[in-house]
Amino acid sequence: MSAFQYRNGELYVEDLALNTLADNYGTPAYVYSKAAISESYLAYAQALGERGKICYAVKANSNLAVLQLLASLGAGFDIVSLGELERVLLAGGEPGKIIFSGVGKTAAEMRRALEVGIACFNVESAAELEVLASVAADMGVQASISLRVNPDVDAQTHPYISTGLKENKFGIEFQSALAVYERAASLASLKVVGVDCHIGSQLTKASPFLDALDRLLVLIDQLAAKGIVIEHLDLGGGLGVDYQGEQPPAIADYVNMVLQKLADRPQSLIFEPGRSIVANAGVLLTEVIYLKPAEAHNFAIVDAAMNDNIRPSLYQAWQKVLPLQENIEAEERVWDIVGPICETGDFLAKKRELKLQTGSRLALMSSGAYGFVMSSNYNSRGRVCEILVDGEQAHLVRERETFADVIRAEKLIKN
Ligand SMILES: *Cc1c(COP(=O)(O)O)cnc(C)c1O
Repeated sequence: MSAFQYRNGELYVEDLALNTLADNYGTPAYVYSKAAISESYLAYAQALGERGKICYAVKANSNLAVLQLLASLGAGFDIVSLGELERVLLAGGEPGKIIFSGVGKTAAEMRRALEVGIACFNVESAAELEVLASVAADMGVQASISLRVNPDVDAQTHPYISTGLKENKFGIEFQSALAVYERAASLASLKVVGVDCHIGSQLTKASPFLDALDRLLVLIDQLAAKGIVIEHLDLGGGLGVDYQGEQPPAIADYVNMVLQKLADRPQSLIFEPGRSIVANAGVLLTEVIYLKPAEAHNFAIVDAAMNDNIRPSLYQAWQKVLPLQENIEAEERVWDIVGPICETGDFLAKKRELKLQTGSRLALMSSGAYGFVMSSNYNSRGRVCEILVDGEQAHLVRERETFADVIRAEKLIKN
């Protein structure tokens, strides 16, 4: 059951009315449900059992309290930067359950990750492999590695979030993987432990994952023939969620399909889910500032904008819009929900049938992933606050930015 439900015409998150949160903390605001995050994480963890680990992809939602919650449930973490590493450590994540992905890791990032003892680097190029080997050698340690292999399968998702095709910048070409593995195995400061892929995001079918898995299994056999033993297989993240009636496989069903294919294999499994853990656990609250009905379009100008949630502008993403209060005394019309930013691309939703008045409050649903984390200060707007709800209790887990926060790092020059 969703953590967001109407009770007597009012939209609730767990046992709190979203209107009460808007009264207490203002709008716009991101609101997350602790129960919803926990439920999705545990669906993965319980289906996988002792067969491997779930490394939450921090970039989907990196609020410290969200990471703290997941760490307390036993999650590992998939990071893509030094900043994400430090967040995970601050939030209580175990270094031994951290894996480091990303195409552009710097030597400084590698050094810090080796210093704290992360579990594995997902290496994305032959050039990166050499740098990691020399950083580890300098430190007198051995770095555990997987190669991120590009299996060249079509994830059938939006081009900007499809990452497993030959033309994408990610990973090592399937044809070159064997040679790069042999090079890795020859370097004393590296320990080959895994094979990794991540083919895209918001996948709504299991078949591309299973195709990718088949290709990785072929590679694992080729490696075994060369005496390179693979301990774990990392299938990345990418499982989709229901934004607009999509029907992705249930988390447990997906994990079980993969487990079935691996039934007689010794490798353990890693998943790196981001979106499927947090997307539907969060909403963005916003309030209507002005209504501007017109011949071509009816515009509802709200206090949230593309700087707060860029997904609709960037990916043409569709997110459901729900009123915090049903049964408003207003005529139903078709509205475009737009923000105050000076860009035509500044919209949160288009052509939605809603009853609106000035001051109406709305929830942009499914905002828990790639929402706040992609927000910016464009138009000198402070980033909004984040609230984590647990039953009847609300925790302000990030304060709304003030003007002083926005200009903190800037300096006037002396004349
Ligand atoms: C973004 C990313 C993920 C998470 O993807 P989701 O679609 O949010 O599950 C996992 N692994 C890597 C390497 C990523 O870049």
